Amino acid sequence: MDFALTEEQTAIFDMAQAFGAEHIAPFARQWEADGTIPKELWTAIAELGFGGLYVSEDSGGSGLSRLDATLVFEALSQSCASVAAFLSIHNMCARMIDNFGSDAMKADLLPRAMTMETVLSYCLTEPGSGSDAAALKTKAVETGNGYALTGTKAFISGGGYSDGYIVMARTGDDGPKGISAFYVPEGAEGLSFGGLEDKMGWRSQPTRQVQLDNCNITKGDLLGETGKGFTYAMMGLDGGRLNIAACSLGAAQSALDQTVAYMGERKAFGKSIDQFQGLQFRLADMEIEMQAARVFLRQAAWKLDNKTPDASAFCAMAKKHVTEVGSRVADQCLQLHGGYGYLADYGIEKIVRDLRVHQILEGTNEIMRVLTARHVLTK
Ligand SMILES: Cc1cc2nc3c(=O)[nH]c(=O)nc-3n(C[C@H](O)[C@H](O)[C@H](O)COP(=O)(O)OP(=O)(O)OC[C@H]3O[C@@H](n4cnc5c(N)ncnc54)[C@H](O)[C@@H]3O)c2cc1C
Repeated sequence: MDFALTEEQTAIFDMAQAFGAEHIAPFARQWEADGTIPKELWTAIAELGFGGLYVSEDSGGSGLSRLDATLVFEALSQSCASVAAFLSIHNMCARMIDNFGSDAMKADLLPRAMTMETVLSYCLTEPGSGSDAAALKTKAVETGNGYALTGTKAFISGGGYSDGYIVMARTGDDGPKGISAFYVPEGAEGLSFGGLEDKMGWRSQPTRQVQLDNCNITKGDLLGETGKGFTYAMMGLDGGRLNIAACSLGAAQSALDQTVAYMGERKAFGKSIDQFQGLQFRLADMEIEMQAARVFLRQAAWKLDNKTPDASAFCAMAKKHVTEVGSRVADQCLQLHGGYGYLADYGIEKIVRDLRVHQILEGTNEIMRVLTARHVLTK
């Protein structure tokens, strides 16, 4: 058993961290205020190979392992979790196209997705179905030469901003086996968007409803086989959960690093506040939680890479655990900054806000417990 990162993995982490420090961190607050991320960031990030982190090399991607990818998300999140998490969604979609798209779809879409001239969003949730995603109602009806999609997707990260959408829609009976996955390009007739959602965190990412009104797409826009869309969507989520956990870890690490530095400077009662043993113990507890979370996350990623039978359960467990550790640590860091932690200039309150949603999306942490309990009861 070897817990060390390889030289190559360390280089990947360092490259992502350096990119974030130069190209993301200085602008992250402005992008929050603007409610959008400039598209030029994506084409720049794609030059590092981050537009197709785990798209196969044969398809023009970077062919990294899931463990390698968590390093990228952990490192980028040290600059901004909202930006890093958005990149995760694009990568999840790109991987679905690589895995299940036809040769023609791959040839058309993947080169643009790899350079991130085409940014991708993932549309599963609906107003009436979130955790119970298999209850989705959006319909895809066969037409002479394709499909007509009708329904509404809720909470879509990149809705009205992205260049293409992976949409899960019903082609058959109720339940997961009646669901198929489609590619819907921006500009498709019948595709429109709701208003910009005003949210607590992830504010630089535009979130909107994606509305499909008899939206016509071609036969070639179907991913893989009909009836398999829910399976494809869930396969994407295993890795997505690792990425979200990595985003919590990276942002919380950044909060912790800033807090240690702050505590060395801030004076109270004649000494720097890092000299109070009660506060030192809190630092120690945070460090222990972070180290344990990191090992757990990397173990889950290793299991997914090695396709172990318990990989999905470990992805769920790691997502629940690491996102909760990340939020706990970020909240403690805010507290240790006193009133300054509450001010936007110090950067900690943004981390607290951004990380909160990681307990809700990619499957809520209650659903992660449902999956974990199922694993415990059936093993
Ligand atoms: C900022 C943001 C961005 C998002 N981006 C996307 C995106 O890009 N694409 C996309 O498809 N979706 C996206 N989502 C949607 C997200 O995945 C859902 O919000 C999430 O799955 C929860 O669904 P829901 O909001 O309908 O809550 P519900 O499913 O209604 O859950 C409400 C509460 O009940 C609990 N609950 C439900 N079922 C059970 C159960 N069986 N046992 C125990 N507890 C249960 C939940 O955990 C939760 O606490 C995003 C959400 C947000 C907030």
